[in-house]
Amino acid sequence: MLAESETRRPETTAAPPRTGSLARRLVLATLTFCILFTLATVTLRTWFAWNTNLSNMNAELGLIDQVFQGTLSKAVWEMDNEALQAQIDSVALAPPVGRVELRILRPGRAPEVLERQHPGHAGSSFAPALHRQLIVTPYPGANEVVGELSIEGDARLLWRRLWKEVGIIMLTQIIQSLALAGLIMGMFNRSVTLHVRRIARHLEQLTPQNLKNHLVLGRGSKASDELDLLEAGVNDLQDKLANHIERQTRDELALAASRDQLAELVEQRTAQLKAANIRLEALTRFDPLTGLANRRHFDEIKELEFNRALRHRQPFSVLMCDIDFFKLYNDTYGHANGDQCLREVALTMSALFSRSGELVARLGGEEFAVLLPGQNRQQALSCAERLQALLAERKLPHKGSGVSPFVTMSIGIAELDPANMERFDHLLQSADKALYRAKSQGRNRCEI
Ligand code: GH3
Ligand code: MG
Ligand code: MG
Repeated sequence: MLAESETRRPETTAAPPRTGSLARRLVLATLTFCILFTLATVTLRTWFAWNTNLSNMNAELGLIDQVFQGTLSKAVWEMDNEALQAQIDSVALAPPVGRVELRILRPGRAPEVLERQHPGHAGSSFAPALHRQLIVTPYPGANEVVGELSIEGDARLLWRRLWKEVGIIMLTQIIQSLALAGLIMGMFNRSVTLHVRRIARHLEQLTPQNLKNHLVLGRGSKASDELDLLEAGVNDLQDKLANHIERQTRDELALAASRDQLAELVEQRTAQLKAANIRLEALTRFDPLTGLANRRHFDEIKELEFNRALRHRQPFSVLMCDIDFFKLYNDTYGHANGDQCLREVALTMSALFSRSGELVARLGGEEFAVLLPGQNRQQALSCAERLQALLAERKLPHKGSGVSPFVTMSIGIAELDPANMERFDHLLQSADKALYRAKSQGRNRCEI
């Protein structure tokens, strides 16, 4: 049976192992990747933003220079100190400007320096700086340098702008990464995790009885993918298992049937053997022609009865009987009739000696012995005479007999004499001698 061949699982169900989520692992991997990717992207974009800010500031400083160069040159040329101060203030107020320095050059005089800077401006090697000569053209073709203008960019503004941009870059990258991770998790959960869990539940509930219940994921997607392959594979495996179990059950039933048949056959054969043994036993103990005990059985019983008689000090007699002129009977009526005659004589004897302990045996040919436990010689003699009388009553014709027209027998009788007989054979020899005497004294008679 499958249940037996199937290696049985232990009854105690172990706690199911803790399972992690594929989706969670996937999200963690995605997030790690996103963080690294964000760092790289932020670094790169920050670098670009820094460079853009630098060129923007350069452009702004250039624009300021363009705006103020003419008026400043003019104010220096005309020595309009008030206008000069106002314009330098205006330049210094422009947001990208950290520091402005105007060096007024006058021939024969030390340069005069006008300087403005934003409070907190400390100068920086990062911020761009612009150096221009202030040139005045008093008449066409004459260019005269009246001063030098240096404008330094405000590094703090540069950093402020950069941080703002870095903040925006980081924010967008983080939002993008989180959205991507969420999307992947959602998609994976909906299209993979749910179905994998359903497959696991289905496999967990499978038993040999419900193998025909197929796994149905019911995803409704048109294009087939790995999950469809898995679904088909599970169902195929179930079908094969179900067929295997069916075949095995069939084979086991057939095996059980043939086992029963075999057991029945063995039972029959055993009964036949027993009967044959009984018959064989009977054959070994009884004479097949007459049904009387044979010599073997007689030998078994004789010693028992002899010893019992000795033990209980009870009388015990034996008759030795021999049909008279039986050779002539055969010669007259044929061997088959001789057999029939032997059967008739045997019937007569077994009818007469049927008491418990009495035994009639055919010792061979037409010779019989009778054990008479509990009977003395007189009683045995009367038994022998009764036998002769019964035989005479049957009137079995015997034309060849010299003593009677019917079958007769001579009988020798002997009684156990415990003083002189140590073994049964002594008793039998005594009966045999008596029979010899009966024969020699004319037959159809009893002798003690
Ligand atoms: P007696 O009166 O002296 O006993 O003469 P008898 O002829 O009976 O004795 P004998 O020993 O000469 O002959 C015995 C005969 O018994 C010889 C044999 O043919 C016959 N006989 C022995 N066994 C069987 C048997 O099984 N069937 C038949 N039909 N005859 C048998
Ligand atoms: Mg004889
Ligand atoms: Mg004889």
